[in-house]
Amino acid sequence: MNLCDIRTVREILSAFSTTTKKSFGQNFLINKNVPEDIADNCCDDENSVIIEIGPGIGCLTAELAKRYKKVIAFEIDETLIPVLKYTLGEFRNVEVINQDIMEVDLAAVIAEKAAGEKVSVCANLPYYITTPILMRLLESRIAFDSITVMVQAEVASRLAAAPGTADYGAITASLNYYGTSKKLFTVSAGNFMPAPKVNSAVVRIDLYKEKPVVPKDEKTFFKVIKSAFGQRRKTLVNALQTGFPDRSKEELTAIITSLGFDERIRGEKLSTADFAAIADKMA
Ligand code: SAM
Repeated sequence: MNLCDIRTVREILSAFSTTTKKSFGQNFLINKNVPEDIADNCCDDENSVIIEIGPGIGCLTAELAKRYKKVIAFEIDETLIPVLKYTLGEFRNVEVINQDIMEVDLAAVIAEKAAGEKVSVCANLPYYITTPILMRLLESRIAFDSITVMVQAEVASRLAAAPGTADYGAITASLNYYGTSKKLFTVSAGNFMPAPKVNSAVVRIDLYKEKPVVPKDEKTFFKVIKSAFGQRRKTLVNALQTGFPDRSKEELTAIITSLGFDERIRGEKLSTADFAAIADKMA
């Protein structure tokens, strides 16, 4: 069964009296090369357990199951659970869990079902909730080897942007704290049913085993990043003043210049290590 054939997708959905739901960000892949490429590139170790978010009708899940030890897939839409039972019936190494990834205790699931295993994440993410899912995965402190996600092309550019470029922002600086990211390839809108308005791209994040930057206080570090990009057109000092109203402009300027930065520098020029250095002076 080709789960990426548009006629097959329609027939399966209709046989199970369901349809694609916009509210769950359902844009299903209809070109088999795409899930094959994602599955080929999302993980370096075939003995890994893959956590998938949003299997849909299972086209990416099947490719992952063929290549890796086990797939644990979380699907929010209960109408797709019997569909997945049918489409993935031949795979003994797939477990589908009908839960919202934003609600699930992922560390507990991994401790129960994949203790001692190498774990990576792979997903064609629902667009309505891309950043919250990514931040939840990163902040979970679970030792994933890699996280590979298909997201809107514009979001992919932000995730993988270099400091100083227009796409560099709070999400980039935060992500760079957890690992390195790389845009793998672009997927045009015509590869999905229904076709979204914009193109997509696949980004792979390889998580640090040991973080190269360790701020004294993580909360202050993330607050510095958030403030720096909250007011993009302002200088860093002015942006920080909005985020830290109890600090005077003179104090903030002294912190910035003591680290060798120009007092008129903007946040988008700074690396994750620079933000940590500033946060350390403020902690
Ligand atoms: N993997 C399939 C594919 O590539 O064709 C479907 C991808 S579709 C873009 C996103 C999938 O995520 C849908 O199946 C949707 O129901 C599911 N989803 C949406 N929100 C979710 C959530 N909070 N938790 C788990 N799954 C979710």
